[in-house]
Amino acid sequence: MTARAAALKAQGREIITLSQGEPDFDTPDNVLEAGIQAIRSGKTRYTAVAGITPLREAIRDKLKRDNSLDYDVDQITVGCGAKQVVFNGLFASLNPGDEVVIPSPCWVSYPDMVRLAGGTPVMAECSEVLDFKLGPESLEAAISPRTKWLMLNSPLNPTGAVYSAADLSRLAEVLRRHPHVWVLADDIYEKLVYPPARFATMAEIAPDLHDRTLTINGVSKANCMTGWRVGYGAGPIELIKAMNTIQGQTSSHTSSISQHAAIEAIAGDQSYIAGFVAEFQRRRDLVVARLNEAPGLRCRTPEGAFYVYPNCAGVIGKRTPSGDTITSDTDFAMHLLDAAGVAVVPGSGFMASPYIRISYASSFEELERACDKIIKACADLR
Ligand code: PMP
Repeated sequence: MTARAAALKAQGREIITLSQGEPDFDTPDNVLEAGIQAIRSGKTRYTAVAGITPLREAIRDKLKRDNSLDYDVDQITVGCGAKQVVFNGLFASLNPGDEVVIPSPCWVSYPDMVRLAGGTPVMAECSEVLDFKLGPESLEAAISPRTKWLMLNSPLNPTGAVYSAADLSRLAEVLRRHPHVWVLADDIYEKLVYPPARFATMAEIAPDLHDRTLTINGVSKANCMTGWRVGYGAGPIELIKAMNTIQGQTSSHTSSISQHAAIEAIAGDQSYIAGFVAEFQRRRDLVVARLNEAPGLRCRTPEGAFYVYPNCAGVIGKRTPSGDTITSDTDFAMHLLDAAGVAVVPGSGFMASPYIRISYASSFEELERACDKIIKACADLR
């Protein structure tokens, strides 16, 4: 899709890209200043593998303040984005044949990371009518004696679903019956939750599972720092030590400059986040309302992140004006790119079809134009 979008752009076509997984806002000024200050004051050398102590202290305080979680600084590791921390957690713990339960739709990287680490992904399909969330019966059915991890991501990429405290409590009840299963909580979209929904994370909701939970978060999404590459994990000391051992032989640590900027992002003024959330909510409401006007699309209202995940079953089997039949969500995404000049991601990439993922991390005006074009491209199908 990306290659095709780039080729069309090179031909001079206007392409609206709604496939990106990052906020369109700039990194806030106070964070930029902290980064510049770090460069000027010579904070440009190797750091500790787990991350500089003041950053890990800021993370410890954040986990206490926002999530009521208690961790020592040694139970915290900092990596090159949440992505590396997820990978380190899996790589440090999986033996060949170990299974990892992944509710689907899911972030594209999870199944491949599990395979890279020698494990076996076990996809647990989550239905649209249950807001794409894993229920206790499905979790129970997915667990085997070989299960090592349950991967939980909330708010969820690609659907924007948010697990409530009650949802997590129900899953915790199942996990109590299976003490060999650990929980990887990917909280990277924590701050992007739209009222009345509220964020919750497993180690907070089920303190008795704290010692088998790896809580992962970072500054990429809420603090608009995707390119700075800072993410972190907090969990049992032996696991964190093993993750540090792996990181010590791979990247060593993330950029010293980014680590200093991240202290400001986590401990400094973050009042800008409320403005981002309000703007994202305005865009979400626009996009959901408009997409539901498109013949063949059905779009739920997600509670978090900056994605919608409309069902496109209603366009499958229809023909484009040029005579091609839409047989899959990939065909439909191609049609939107060719006919409407809008780039989205087909649901097959997230292990759930027929859907498309649309990111609303674009300006309101651009989203309005994109929705007009999508509605027309759907109406043109026969
Ligand atoms: N987890 C999920 C669910 C994500 O969507 C992403 C980013 N696309 C990440 C982790 C990785 O975040 P980071 O940029 O901090 O590596």
